[in-house]
Amino acid sequence: MSIVVMKFGGTSVEDTAAIGRTAAIVAGRAASGKSPVVVVSAMAKVTDQLLRAASAASDGDRTGSLAISARLRTRHLDTAAELVKDAGEIATLTQFLNEEFDALDEVLRGLAVIHELTPRISDLIVSYGERLSSRIVAAAFRGQGIAAAHADAREIVITDAEFQKATPIDALIEKRAQEKLLPLIKAGKIPVMGGFIASSEDGLTTTLGRGGSDYTGALVGGALNAGTIEIWTDVDGIMTADPRVCPDALRVKVISFEEAAEMAYFGAKVLHPATILPAVRKNIPVLVLNSRNAACDGTRIISVAPHCKSPFKSIAVKRKLSIIDIVASRMLMSHGYMSKMFAVFDRRKCPVDMVSTSEVSVSLTVDTNASLPEIAADLSAMADVKYEGKKALICLVGEDIRGQNGIAAQVFNAIRHINVRMISQGASEINMSFMIDEDDADEAVRSLHAAFFQNPDPAIFDVEARKAASSS
Ligand code: ADP
Ligand code: ASP
Ligand code: MG
Repeated sequence: MSIVVMKFGGTSVEDTAAIGRTAAIVAGRAASGKSPVVVVSAMAKVTDQLLRAASAASDGDRTGSLAISARLRTRHLDTAAELVKDAGEIATLTQFLNEEFDALDEVLRGLAVIHELTPRISDLIVSYGERLSSRIVAAAFRGQGIAAAHADAREIVITDAEFQKATPIDALIEKRAQEKLLPLIKAGKIPVMGGFIASSEDGLTTTLGRGGSDYTGALVGGALNAGTIEIWTDVDGIMTADPRVCPDALRVKVISFEEAAEMAYFGAKVLHPATILPAVRKNIPVLVLNSRNAACDGTRIISVAPHCKSPFKSIAVKRKLSIIDIVASRMLMSHGYMSKMFAVFDRRKCPVDMVSTSEVSVSLTVDTNASLPEIAADLSAMADVKYEGKKALICLVGEDIRGQNGIAAQVFNAIRHINVRMISQGASEINMSFMIDEDDADEAVRSLHAAFFQNPDPAIFDVEARKAASSS
């Protein structure tokens, strides 16, 4: 039995046509003798809209919040009605969707009275996206003759109770996946479950963080010892840069786990940063594929990628960052100073991306977040502190930078017209990153892309697609 976990993102289940394409892709895998397990995101933009409804309610805008929910109800009911024609099936599904929206509206009304949006309530509200989409997709699949069986992700993906960014408990997930999914697979069924949503051991709804459905796919793949994990999205695979920023970006045919993890961490939205971990542990190949162009081979992420003639595989951008400059002329190098400084970030649960030090100062970059003023206030007890938002980190990733001379000079020559604030090259030697103003980010990516992907290695990059595009 060769299990393939197939994760479909929001755009792959956004409407009737997209769900129809997804059904055909899954049916194709099943017909080829594989046993698919399907993980779906919320329909496109639904998570954002649920978060907007939650924030409107907690601001006391009960009417606005319920109006968002009403629009979502119509969208889900309409999609279900278009996809599911069996009278019994659509009656059950309609009743389910209405009950879920009634329950959601109750929560929103309560929130509009209480005016306090806790992480726990936020997760509860946002979980409706995947709860609803997974039911619709399962019913739609059955309508297409696929033996789909819905599975509640919250009974399988068990996490700690760190709402909004919960940490999975691998041993429990393995046990639950074996108990709940394997019997379905063995009975010839195709389990369909929501990504992103999970529950704590006490049964409270948690989530794995934005973009977390990829992570669910990998966790389930790891737990079931799947042969492959497929991440189906709206681009042809991992590209040499975000194609929205750089239209001539090329598909990367093959990339290593390490490189893909680095890219995801440094902002390439195409993969959730933690996705690769469960796959690495069990050495399961991950494929990134396009549900709008299923014939394309996508990107294969494997433990050891072949040698590449170009130094870099891809350019990632992490936006909405802030830079914090800490200047402490006397104490900086004294024993224990750094640990006190990092303790401030730790207390506020604020991860630090990049650090650079001089004799008298330390500069750090963090995600722009609401607790920055408090962090700066805490740090000001130890030093002079300044912080500035609207920064972006550009990260060039590639295993083949190792041992190549003169790469840094080429990078900074390509962006010599842009002001660079901080530079770092990690010990892993597979990334080179630097910080600039967010407004310069797109220009920097395009300049670097033009400099480093002029003569791409055809063994690694889809050069044929570029040739085809330029001759048409
Ligand atoms: P999904 O909803 O399927 O999870 P996402 O929106 O999370 O999809 O991720 C896909 C998007 O990631 C693409 O539409 C693309 O704009 C963006 N992206 C950013 N960097 C890259 C990259 N290097 N390669 C491919 N896509 C990228
Ligand atoms: N629906 C969630 C989000 O938009 C999870 C995902 O799509 O991966 O963040
Ligand atoms: Mg995503």
